[in-house]
Amino acid sequence: MPRAPRSLVSGDVRRHNLTLVLEHLVAAGPSARSEIAAATGLTRGAVTALATALSEAGVVREAEPTQTGRGRPITRLALAADTVAVLVVQVDADTATALLANLAGDELHRVERRHGRPMGDPEAVLDVLAEVTRDALRAAAMLGRRVVETPVVVFAPVGGEPPVVLADTDLGWGVVDLLDGLRSRVPELPAAVTLASDGWLAARAERSLLDDIDDLVYVKSNSGIGGAIITGGRIVEGAHGVGASLGHLALIPDGPSCECGQIGCLVTIAGPDALLERAGLTRLVGDRGLAAALDEFSRRLDAGEPAATAAWNDALPWIARALQVLSLATDPSSIVIGGFWAAHAGSIERAFRANRPAVAEAFGRPASAIPTVSAGRLGADAALLGAAWAARDRLLADPARLGV
Ligand SMILES: [Zn+2]
Repeated sequence: MPRAPRSLVSGDVRRHNLTLVLEHLVAAGPSARSEIAAATGLTRGAVTALATALSEAGVVREAEPTQTGRGRPITRLALAADTVAVLVVQVDADTATALLANLAGDELHRVERRHGRPMGDPEAVLDVLAEVTRDALRAAAMLGRRVVETPVVVFAPVGGEPPVVLADTDLGWGVVDLLDGLRSRVPELPAAVTLASDGWLAARAERSLLDDIDDLVYVKSNSGIGGAIITGGRIVEGAHGVGASLGHLALIPDGPSCECGQIGCLVTIAGPDALLERAGLTRLVGDRGLAAALDEFSRRLDAGEPAATAAWNDALPWIARALQVLSLATDPSSIVIGGFWAAHAGSIERAFRANRPAVAEAFGRPASAIPTVSAGRLGADAALLGAAWAARDRLLADPARLGV
């Protein structure tokens, strides 16, 4: 193998070390140079030189010195990057959202607009998506920030190169080149635009809040049913990039036909449309949107309203069965429930635990081998935040894009 030129090697090391410093500041918050050196294993001298480069580029700044004990005041470095922003653009079954965030993931500006769910009409949805995107770009300009990453999030499977939406059953879409449609409407959109499916982003974001969980099943319902499987710290993408299509696990014998062509998919009995219909709330979707209708369903379920309760009790055994299948297939240490199901994670856990294999103990697996089931912590923003954090991580891995 030919050896890389020396200058390239040292450039790579410098970039790597810059990333170490930045990742430490993201994880630990404002830190003294000595703390950064201790945490990263870099020498004090190296940290000082890297900090100078980061300060000159405006990526970090010195916080006010703080007095600790009798020694000299400690000056800590804080992530600044006051001149850049990440713009996350998201389209779900109801709403187009544009979220402007700083590198710490804090929200700077948010625009949301309902698109009215015009089924089978991606152009109409793209028009609304373009409006919120332009609004957010204007806000970025007013804040004096350059948008350096624009992740676009859809609640649908994504595939291909360049990536396209493969199908969105909530919106009645087949293959849609969303990025091309957005770029043609918003030519001023910065170059680094990516397209990703909500389930993977949300799963990674929820996982980042847990301690040392490398094997995770994330299942959520808000538009449809989706999620992700993480095993050994990696998302199971599958051969076609559509791994963990959890809503289309065909579980129900002689069940209803699904739009995907199978019969008995989980989504046909436990998906939002099925639950809302059984609860008599279908009209509310047209009037106030899917998210509001699901909020109402949750309220009724909590209040013990008979139709909502019956709908949920019909769905619950199938949700539990899906988790049993996934649990035995992938052996996760944790199952995280997202979307509006998060509020009902307790009943999902009880249904899941009701049918665990006693044979697990015969296999010598301790009771702790049964995964924990918990509610996601990020609510409806899980995918948005996941996209912002993933974009931040891409930037930190390539500090030259921040001008360092
Ligand atoms: Zn299906």
